[in-house]
Amino acid sequence: MAINNSEYFNPEIETMSREEIKKLQLERLQKTVRHCMNSPFYKKRFEEAGLKPEDIKTLDDVRKIPFTTKQDLRDTYPFGLASVPLSECVRLHSSSGTTGNPTVILHTQKDLDEWANAVARCLWMVGLRPDDVFQNSSGYGMFTGGLGFQYGAERLGMLTVPAAAGNSLRQIKFIKDFGTTAIHAIPSYLTRLHEVMEQEGVDPRKDTKLKVFAIGAEPHTEEQRKRIEDMFGVKAYNSFGMSEMCGPGVAFECKEQNGLHFWEDYYIVEIVDPETLEPVPDGQIGELVLTTLNREAMPLLRYRTRDLTRVLPGDCPCGRKHIRLDRMKGRSDDMMVLRGVNIFPIQIEKILLNYPELSSNYLITLTTDNDNDNMTVDVELAKEGLTDNQLKDLEKAVCRALKDEILLTPRIHLLVAGTLPQSEGKAVRVKDLRKVYQ
Ligand code: ADP
Ligand code: ZN
Repeated sequence: MAINNSEYFNPEIETMSREEIKKLQLERLQKTVRHCMNSPFYKKRFEEAGLKPEDIKTLDDVRKIPFTTKQDLRDTYPFGLASVPLSECVRLHSSSGTTGNPTVILHTQKDLDEWANAVARCLWMVGLRPDDVFQNSSGYGMFTGGLGFQYGAERLGMLTVPAAAGNSLRQIKFIKDFGTTAIHAIPSYLTRLHEVMEQEGVDPRKDTKLKVFAIGAEPHTEEQRKRIEDMFGVKAYNSFGMSEMCGPGVAFECKEQNGLHFWEDYYIVEIVDPETLEPVPDGQIGELVLTTLNREAMPLLRYRTRDLTRVLPGDCPCGRKHIRLDRMKGRSDDMMVLRGVNIFPIQIEKILLNYPELSSNYLITLTTDNDNDNMTVDVELAKEGLTDNQLKDLEKAVCRALKDEILLTPRIHLLVAGTLPQSEGKAVRVKDLRKVYQ
């Protein structure tokens, strides 16, 4: 491989002007739409909508195309959305099914190559180079965070450590013995890893070479990122992806840490009002809708992700003109409606992390008592040795702050570290026991 001394993994694409990006997007959109006619699903969809591939003349014409939903993926399970014969596919992944039945995504070899390029581009953007050692602590197998980062990190040329999820003692041994400089992890796992490091008397600043974390796969607040950075003395960059869009590599923060750059040579990004499905003005929160631009096996047109976010204004000092979106606020399906008030778990996390005495391990339980919705927040303490009075004061203060945010008074339980159930994958933040009564 030729030596790349540039700040960019793919300088030609990453430094494109807005006009060049849009030109490339239109070419790829038209090609993708034509290709989609190989899929009986899209052929029918277009016919029903009275739409022909030739009708897509400008980038704005993307709005003529009907949306694709997770339900469409489920209805056509497992292979009904393929745009190539199965014999041309070399791998499938399925989503972790956080919110229902799994869905299947097929890949050709070219799809996998492009995916690896996208992930490599993200990792390069945050300063990783072939002499770095990359440890991947996410689950392998169907979960795309495993193989997705594996191939991306290899494409960049790093020594990769496919440690997979869990077993913190072994993770720490690898970090020390192999001189790991970068880790990909789910943010909730890094808090656990740090706990174990403390127990083992390992100081990440002195005893390891860690310098970069890629954190993602689940929503997290700016506060949680800062916590992680302070705990380890390591820069943590937000990584966004989803299995329907390949997996990781869809969007990543650059060194400026000011939002997620979505790679617009791979995706058309739209933000729509989830009710009216009309585009929202830039800066307003809405649902992220993505169209794949270079997928062969299973292109998806106007896929409704359910993720809520907004376009960030202004140019990024890093020089990339690819659109920047705010960190995800959550998914529309994560939204809890309590006594008529809409609440996202991330709002609770933001408040909890204002208190240095509290850790980022928390669980929200919703119950119905006497026909009233109630919320209980169990949260682990980050510090030991607080007196009973201090604990009581803390509980009261947290309760008040939460009430101001969510407009109802929750019950707060302060727990010793390690009490809440641990999940190997994405953290489970909400237990809705109200459903039992419905
Ligand atoms: P599932 O849909 O079953 O959870 P995926 O692994 O494909 O399976 O998860 C993709 C989803 O994870 C995204 O749609 C988004 O809701 C969430 N997600 C991924 N990365 C991030 C991130 N950096 N910030 C917030 N949410 C994220
Ligand atoms: Zn940037």
